[in-house]
Amino acid sequence: MRLRNIAGSREVIADSDFTVKDPEKKKGLWHKEVFGNNNPIHIEIGMGKGRFLMDLATLHPDINYVGIEKYSSVLLRAIQKQEQLLLPNVKFIRMDAEVLCEVFAPDEVDRIYLNFSDPWPKDRHAKRRLPSREFLKRYDQIMKPDGVVEFKTDNKDLFEFALEEIEPAGWTLDAVTRDLHNDPVMNEGNVMTEYEERFSSLGNPIYKYIISRKGK
Ligand code: SAM
Repeated sequence: MRLRNIAGSREVIADSDFTVKDPEKKKGLWHKEVFGNNNPIHIEIGMGKGRFLMDLATLHPDINYVGIEKYSSVLLRAIQKQEQLLLPNVKFIRMDAEVLCEVFAPDEVDRIYLNFSDPWPKDRHAKRRLPSREFLKRYDQIMKPDGVVEFKTDNKDLFEFALEEIEPAGWTLDAVTRDLHNDPVMNEGNVMTEYEERFSSLGNPIYKYIISRKGK
């Protein structure tokens, strides 16, 4: 998702109380300094306009949510929504997820959501795909031992690639569906993202997996 450049979006982000500036200074301090509680931390990488994250945060006030998005023009939309909702359990970071391990300490994160991640179809860009083994290794470094990654997409090629990355990266497949909306077990309590609503309305099936590091 890339909206046209919106003048002033960087300034709005810099001034907003809902974005965490210099997030690497919060490494190991997210519970104590950012949220002021010990509730679990769930993050969405590539949050887009933040609808999914804020719907979840409304449903689960006892969980802290961090939305990560690399483009200011998109993050701006999430900030504008949060200015209306004022959810105390939501913060945003504008950054590329490649630096995740500089921002979160080991064991600091309980769950990671990847929703409709950019497919990066060229082979030479495979390392940029958010469910790639390179990223799974980063997630491994910041998550609690029982942490899970939940990934949804309508992109079959990206999903097949993601499934093949699980084992080499040391993760375990806990649940999988190739038609989420017609899978009564995995669809229970499903919160739709903006892309999910758009693509499922075109008739595209939604793929989903949940992975963990069993025995870690
Ligand atoms: N998750 C939303 C949804 O499902 O509606 C948005 C999906 S959109 C296709 C993917 C988003 O991920 C874009 O806004 C893009 O800027 C962001 N993104 C992609 N790679 C990223 C990265 N490495 N770090 C942070 N954000 C990233």
